[in-house]
Amino acid sequence: MIPFLDLKRQYDEVGTEIEAEVVAVLRSCGYVLGQPVAAFEADFADYCGADQAIAVNSGTSALHLALLAAGIEPGDEVITVPTTFVATVAAILYAGARPVLVDVDPVTLTMDPAKIEAAITPRTRAILPVHFHGRLADMAAICAIGDAHGLTVIEDAAQAHGATRDGQRAGTFGALGCFSFYPGKNLGAAGEGGAVTTSDPALAARVRQLRDWGQSERYVHALKGFNYRMEAIQGAVLGVKLKRLEAWNAARRAVANAYHTGLAAGIERAAGPFGADHVCHVYAIESDDREALRSALTEAGVATNIHYPYPVHLQPAYADLGYGPGDFPVAERYATRTLSLPIFPELQSHEIARVIAAVNAAVAEIDGRAGNRREYAS
Ligand SMILES: *Cc1c(COP(=O)(O)O)cnc(C)c1O
Repeated sequence: MIPFLDLKRQYDEVGTEIEAEVVAVLRSCGYVLGQPVAAFEADFADYCGADQAIAVNSGTSALHLALLAAGIEPGDEVITVPTTFVATVAAILYAGARPVLVDVDPVTLTMDPAKIEAAITPRTRAILPVHFHGRLADMAAICAIGDAHGLTVIEDAAQAHGATRDGQRAGTFGALGCFSFYPGKNLGAAGEGGAVTTSDPALAARVRQLRDWGQSERYVHALKGFNYRMEAIQGAVLGVKLKRLEAWNAARRAVANAYHTGLAAGIERAAGPFGADHVCHVYAIESDDREALRSALTEAGVATNIHYPYPVHLQPAYADLGYGPGDFPVAERYATRTLSLPIFPELQSHEIARVIAAVNAAVAEIDGRAGNRREYAS
């Protein structure tokens, strides 16, 4: 079976170095924040091109604190998209605000800038685009709208570490950028982790304070904060892996571009070829008969995944946002048709070739059957 994701291969590359760092943390008995986290924060800020990075315990916490630092309060509205992991919307609710959704662009699957202005009300405070599957949203257009209406732009860059447009990296277009280091992300911890990037010293100070119980000094709680601190072990692991991120992103891009050129012409697939603005966190194709395609690929020994089978507004828990079927046609159609193929930096060329051959054969077979059905019907 060709795995959808095999983290063991990455561990084989970095394990020895990580184990030395982790043992050093254990022996230091400094388990929370501390030097390993401070060193990673400096390196990650430097990598992104932001003045500061503040490490937290998950991407969800990063989003929550970015929203709070931006001054989002109950009664406020934040514009985001339904084509994302639920954490984006959940974080807006954690801040007490109302998520206002706009559909995504059918080609890029990121926030459609043309839909934003109609969603702005006197209560709108922020725009939260998602760099879905690792592709940068149209940040020039989104930031221009944010500027024109006095709205804070916060990036959900949880899938897009290192994505670059005109030399500028994900997490530096908006006032704040939010990253996840969940193990399967392009940069993954040995557990949970996240970070907020910003070049605004006041925002950075607020995020830093909020992640550690709102303390202005020890046991003085100037703000109602949270325990969102990063563990020292995660800082140490991430510091080792960050040095490889550029190479890993390039390897992911090579896999995606091989799929892009190798898949048969009729197969609907992510818009490519893939350049610097896409770090290829996910590579997805689309099919009218996804279930048949998925089982054919499983039978052919190719593991697949679905990111994500339901847009957030059609998830049971978020029905109370007040949206329903038909509200976001692009997001809804995509969710029913998308299928993610194996992609990770260590995927071998013979495996890539097998995935391509299996997809081409399965689609030809399914299309043939659909063609037959159509003939019988007519
Ligand atoms: C992974 C992810 C998150 C949440 O990150 P966690 O570290 O799992 O909390 C948020 N937004 C998007 C788009 C993600 O992919």
